[in-house]
Amino acid sequence: MERRVAGLTLDGTRRVLSIDLPPEAEQIRADIRAELEPAKTLESAAQTSYLAEKGYTTPHLPAPWGKTADAVTQLVIAEELRSAELKPHDMIIGNWVVPTLIAHGNEDQLARFLPGSLCGDIVWCQLFSEPGAGSDLAGLSTKAVKVDGGWKLQGQKVWTSMARVADWGICLARTDADAPKHKGLSYFLIDIRNSEGLDIRPLREITGDALFNEVFFDDVFVPDECLVGEPGDGWKLARTTLANERVSLSNDSSLGSGGEALLKLAATIPGGLDAEQLTVLGSVLCDAQSGG
Ligand SMILES: Cc1cc2nc3c(=O)[nH]c(=O)nc-3n(C[C@H](O)[C@H](O)[C@H](O)COP(=O)(O)OP(=O)(O)OC[C@H]3O[C@@H](n4cnc5c(N)ncnc54)[C@H](O)[C@@H]3O)c2cc1C
Repeated sequence: MERRVAGLTLDGTRRVLSIDLPPEAEQIRADIRAELEPAKTLESAAQTSYLAEKGYTTPHLPAPWGKTADAVTQLVIAEELRSAELKPHDMIIGNWVVPTLIAHGNEDQLARFLPGSLCGDIVWCQLFSEPGAGSDLAGLSTKAVKVDGGWKLQGQKVWTSMARVADWGICLARTDADAPKHKGLSYFLIDIRNSEGLDIRPLREITGDALFNEVFFDDVFVPDECLVGEPGDGWKLARTTLANERVSLSNDSSLGSGGEALLKLAATIPGGLDAEQLTVLGSVLCDAQSGG
């Protein structure tokens, strides 16, 4: 069975998910198709901006940032984007930062961060995990102390994906050491490129890649306007972030990017795969399909 799966997949077979939509989907489809039409002839950056401005980066979020799209509209949008071969910007970590800012940020923060995030001008990273705080995130010990005009942050984060390419980071820090651990946290926006005292150190993996980083804060100043919500709201905001992260990490590729990369690699093996390799590949693809 595994060998058959491997053979079919190498030959291009993929699971295509579809759903029967109600009749009103056709009017929605006509409107979406008309709106997407001008994007087809735009060059790459202009196309991304057009799609972002029209709400296609995050259709499920409220307008003007998204399209306030219900479930049927989201499905129609996905189908129409695919058939027009249009790809809105993937904000990656921004996919869970932006909904948090919409839910809890103030007007100035929305105006400052959302347009750039939606079109890809602002790249985000997530400064949550620490050496002593993974699953028990609320046990984190990075401290933020109030100073004139802002806060000073001291501590260490770990497993920070994309820290070296990010412009801004969302960061949880402890602002009240006396409060119960979930109540003493606050949620900050960190200027990754321009903050003095911030040290990013890549963590080299066995593959040679360095996906993750350690990030050290040595008295990093964060202005008041980069606190989201009120001091002590950090855990509430983190839950919004993590809930959106969970949904966002599932995607519509049936094998995931890792599965597709493995297939590309398999196709480069001179003479093709032997029976044992096909069995292993088929087994991995079955797992990828089940999880995709
Ligand atoms: C691909 C990837 C990207 C990541 N990117 C980021 C990022 O950008 N920013 C960021 O902040 N973090 C990031 N992380 C970190 C991730 O969120 C943490 O790894 C996660 O919070 C778990 O923490 P830990 O690795 O310290 O594991 P631990 O918390 O030490 O857990 C280790 C094991 O113990 C188990 N365990 C823990 N507590 C209990 C308990 N009470 N009872 C029973 N079992 C328990 C866990 O299930 C797990 O199997 C990333 C992780 C991965 C895998």
